[in-house]
Amino acid sequence: MTENYATNDAGAPIPSVEHSLTVGSDGPILLQDHYLLEQMANFNRERIPERQPHAKGGGAFGQFEVTHDVSAFTKAAFLQPGATTEMVARFSTVAGERGSPDTWRDPRGFALKFYTSEGNFDMVGNNTPVFFLRDPMKFQNFIRSQKRMQANNLRDHHMQWDFWTLSPESAHQVTWLMGDRGIPKTWRHMNGYSSHTYSWLNAADELFWVKYHFKTDQGIDFLTQEDADRLAGEDGDYHQRDLFTSIEDGNFPSWTLHVQIMPFEDAKTYRYNPFDLTKVWPHADYPLHEVGKMTLNRNVVDYHAQMEQAAFEPNNVVPGTGLSPDKMLLARGFSYADAHRHRLGVNYKQIPVNEPHVEVRAYSKDGPMRIHNVTDPVYAPNSMGGPQADPRRASEVRWASDGDMVRAASALRADDDDWGQAGTLVREVLNDEQRDRLAHNIIGHVSDGVKEPVLSRVFEYWRNVDPDLGKKVEEGVRNGDG
Ligand code: NDP
Repeated sequence: MTENYATNDAGAPIPSVEHSLTVGSDGPILLQDHYLLEQMANFNRERIPERQPHAKGGGAFGQFEVTHDVSAFTKAAFLQPGATTEMVARFSTVAGERGSPDTWRDPRGFALKFYTSEGNFDMVGNNTPVFFLRDPMKFQNFIRSQKRMQANNLRDHHMQWDFWTLSPESAHQVTWLMGDRGIPKTWRHMNGYSSHTYSWLNAADELFWVKYHFKTDQGIDFLTQEDADRLAGEDGDYHQRDLFTSIEDGNFPSWTLHVQIMPFEDAKTYRYNPFDLTKVWPHADYPLHEVGKMTLNRNVVDYHAQMEQAAFEPNNVVPGTGLSPDKMLLARGFSYADAHRHRLGVNYKQIPVNEPHVEVRAYSKDGPMRIHNVTDPVYAPNSMGGPQADPRRASEVRWASDGDMVRAASALRADDDDWGQAGTLVREVLNDEQRDRLAHNIIGHVSDGVKEPVLSRVFEYWRNVDPDLGKKVEEGVRNGDG
């Protein structure tokens, strides 16, 4: 008799993993074969709703170490000199479903959770410093336009360009997406950006606006469209496999964190709206400050428990860090936690990968799958010695708001427009080869099913980004080069 005997979910030994209990060898199955019933019932419940969007992804555990002193800007304990914090990262595509290829052209999610000594801090970023939209009212529709047609369940480039060309604020991000960085070689070869503007609070109670830039130490690298298409067929899990095997081989990828820091008062008069998610802050205006290094060094051992159930949310802020008036960020503060309650249940923060490494003394109680005991008192205020709030530890951002309630775009600043920064990227950052590949990728993408009247809008869109690029795209599509 082996010591490694199989059990049912209650730990009791089971008589067979192969044969159900029947009356005679060909007789009917018996209802008292509880193990068979348990196996069938559990199988029916193995899948949880996939993430909507960012369904396909993977990641690993690691640590973040502060190497430079930014204590003048934030009092967050995990950002103080010398601090080392355990963390978990998840990388993903956006539009594809759970089994879709890793090498589709798409922005990549770059989600981080730091288990700090003051509670969890999450950054739910991307491998791009900007996004397609600046107003959350459009987000749901945007994602629908990037996924599948309702009637035939097919991906559809016509639908994608229809949405993009009717939303000119998308131009900066679409330029990124169609360029080399739209298909990273691996997850190890891409940067991660907060994209959003966040806030920091220092010990003297001074506020700053910040943008996080996690720069890959492996160097930026990309796949051509042709290589990505081939790999999508050969190995749909190419990026996931690369990260897993690198860590398995002891080749730990790392990223160096830099931040851009804007004094609180600058935001009122800066030439761009600093809370517009479609814009970067030019480095010349706000240079990068090095902060520390993130290293991924431990693979998950149970993908479902530790990665599929990993729940990141931008409202996980800790003292010294906070949100900003960015409309998209504030909306994500609701939608991420709401998605987790839907997918994982209200007690998702008790799943080990989501659990803070500090004691939780919350007044939440009960609900499905609550694992940790709750102790009295279960209400506040109370006179029974329950945990007390400490306003000095608050991390909320304070900003002034005294306008009327409106449904309107933010007032334009001197340099706010939808095309300018995209044009700068094309003309001043990309070299000739990169510009050629950008045009080649756009022509190929557009030639795959985009029809009038959207087609004419596509040419206009690229002429607005850059006249030469617009001309090249139109000629290429009309000549059938795609
Ligand atoms: P800079 O010349 O100071 O910065 C340009 C940055 O562009 C580089 O530092 C690099 O950022 C990034 N970059 C380099 N090659 C590519 C590429 N092939 N595709 C996409 N990005 C690339 O200029 P500015 O700060 O004035 O920004 C000019 C333009 O550069 C912006 O409009 C924006 O499109 C792009 N950019 C700006 C960033 C910012 O935060 N200011 C960040 C990234 C891009 P990195 O080191 O982060 O890879």
